[in-house]
Amino acid sequence: MQIAWLWGGLIVTALAADSIHAGDDVVPHVVLGIHGGTGADKKDMTPELDRQLRALLTEALQAGRARLQSGGVSLDAVETAIRVMEDSPLLNAGKGAVFTHEGRNELDASIMDGRTKKAGAVAGVTIVKNPITAARAVMEKSKHVLFVGRGAEIFATQQGLEIVDPSYFWTEERWNSIRDIWKKEADAKTRTGELPALPPKKSEYGTVGAVALDAHGNLAAGTSTGGMTNKMAGRVGDSPIIGAGTYADNAAGAISCTGHGEFFIRYAVSHEIVAQVKYRGASIKDAAEDVINRQLKDAGGEGASICLDPQGNFATAYNSEGLYRGSITSDGQIRIRLYEE
Ligand code: ASP
Repeated sequence: MQIAWLWGGLIVTALAADSIHAGDDVVPHVVLGIHGGTGADKKDMTPELDRQLRALLTEALQAGRARLQSGGVSLDAVETAIRVMEDSPLLNAGKGAVFTHEGRNELDASIMDGRTKKAGAVAGVTIVKNPITAARAVMEKSKHVLFVGRGAEIFATQQGLEIVDPSYFWTEERWNSIRDIWKKEADAKTRTGELPALPPKKSEYGTVGAVALDAHGNLAAGTSTGGMTNKMAGRVGDSPIIGAGTYADNAAGAISCTGHGEFFIRYAVSHEIVAQVKYRGASIKDAAEDVINRQLKDAGGEGASICLDPQGNFATAYNSEGLYRGSITSDGQIRIRLYEE
């Protein structure tokens, strides 16, 4: 009896320790939270990259908060913070996006307003410098929610957004990643006669996202990505899909996700978190843990979400090794974490 009880106790303890990043506390009074994806393998992290990432996340948080302080709304803070991260080659969004199997950069982004439940998104764009701004233009300047490919690019051009040559997005590091994969695929094909289905590696994730709460109590969320390295041409992940990679509802929370997009689409992750808050009465932290560390983990889907509730509680959940993330409070206190909880 005692052994059974002890044994049961051990099992429960082991499961809890394995699945919940319990030290990743909820941060109160947050006005802006951001993420830069689940990141590279921890063993590949260098002190210099660590420093650069923290500086970039700090810059994005400060820029977003400055918008709020100068009268901007939560949508402005989300867009501003994401643009800073898109413009950096360090993260997989905008400049520095990963390559498709064909060696191109196809970018996805979305944004949502928690007050009006309006949303905008673009997918598969190749010449729009800041896809998050294009997503916002779709929301505010069109009667649609999601534009793809050429239509999205024409719309962005008509809206006067900054257009760049596709080569703008090229970075040596991402190019080396796709070349390594091509080589592995070619080697395997020579051996077996077939093209192998290489599983995605952690280092192929790296989307950016933001969630914000303004002085009017309005929430907003946004996400921007180059997708997953070696994705097939035309593949669209969760980031531009409202309810999957991004969701905002003033009544429950703002969510931005990163990870293996196919799982996030199938589990409607960001909407599922909001729904658990609304209909199950869960805290945003518990809802995110349930979806990321139970539902998704059981299904084999790797990834993370950042969440901000209407009271300004910032919570994260991840079943990956790390999650590049940060938050800033109304009085300017910054908290940044990469792998540590
Ligand atoms: N979720 C993104 C996608 O599947 C990738 C990522 O988060 O890094 O396109």
